[in-house]
Amino acid sequence: MAETSAIEWTDSTFNPWIGCTKISPACDHCYAEALMDKRHGRVKWGGERSRTSASNWQQPRRWQKQAAAFFAQHGRRRRVFCSSLADVFDNQVPDEWRADLWTLIYDTPDLDWLLLTKRPQNIGKMLPAFWEHVRGHVWFGTTVEDQQRAAQNIHHLLQHNAAVHFASCEPLLGPMDLKEYFHDSDCADVMSLGEPCICSDRPDPEARLDWVIAGGESGPQARPSHPDWFRSLRDQCAAAGVPFLFKQWGEWSPRGPESFGYPIVDGVPQFRMSDTGDNGSDLAATGGNQSWLNRAGKKRAGRLLDGVEHNGFPVSP
Ligand code: SF4
Repeated sequence: MAETSAIEWTDSTFNPWIGCTKISPACDHCYAEALMDKRHGRVKWGGERSRTSASNWQQPRRWQKQAAAFFAQHGRRRRVFCSSLADVFDNQVPDEWRADLWTLIYDTPDLDWLLLTKRPQNIGKMLPAFWEHVRGHVWFGTTVEDQQRAAQNIHHLLQHNAAVHFASCEPLLGPMDLKEYFHDSDCADVMSLGEPCICSDRPDPEARLDWVIAGGESGPQARPSHPDWFRSLRDQCAAAGVPFLFKQWGEWSPRGPESFGYPIVDGVPQFRMSDTGDNGSDLAATGGNQSWLNRAGKKRAGRLLDGVEHNGFPVSP
């Protein structure tokens, strides 16, 4: 679909079909629905899914043929985000379509396939019989917008072996503690003593989150994310040695409170959630640090977190 992608964490995108049903608060302002249903009328959201053209399905095979050149240029395999306009593990998609997708993934071993889902509970029943032959170039990711979704989704994600496991915390809608999903040194210490650890109920006790992506929501109805929620994820990842990628602020940004004339009290910026009224109490981080945010728009808001661009990626095995 797109040989080059504007999405910061992938090289290319491929959509085997288009369409989906909202299942989570992160879906409320679904970008794919806005584009494919409301703007182009291509698919009725929540209705029948639409398989993409045969020529579109040829695109990954072309990338496979270019794999050596891509590797020579980048020193790694091409990352392909599959289903930016759908969900691979959607149970309203015909099984034959997904079977064709698995065959395509099997036939393109020199691409890294990034399968990001909001339905990780379906992964187990939708894997192909030849899963062991493809899992070395498949990255499984799940969206976790708050602690509740982290508890539900990451557990399911880690039940299945894959080259990489990752969490996409976008749009980030609440504070999140992911430490128990990192296989940090404490966990390794526990296991070295032969004691069960938090990972021990998984088929692969070594399975853990290898990568965290975080970002705010964009679009006219975007919900703001407290800067401290991002800072906390950044710091948790740094402590555990897990790569962290800060994708974007999105619509709302705390960028340069001084430049917007916001006050700083005792060295702490007193942000405001809205540019029209003070409702910052709705966005108090743990510890009561209120935040004032400015509706800067995605482009102006950028992707610097405390002045730093975070572009962490896991090493592809
Ligand atoms: S799972 Fe993704 S594509 Fe499907 S409705 Fe939710 S945000 Fe949209």
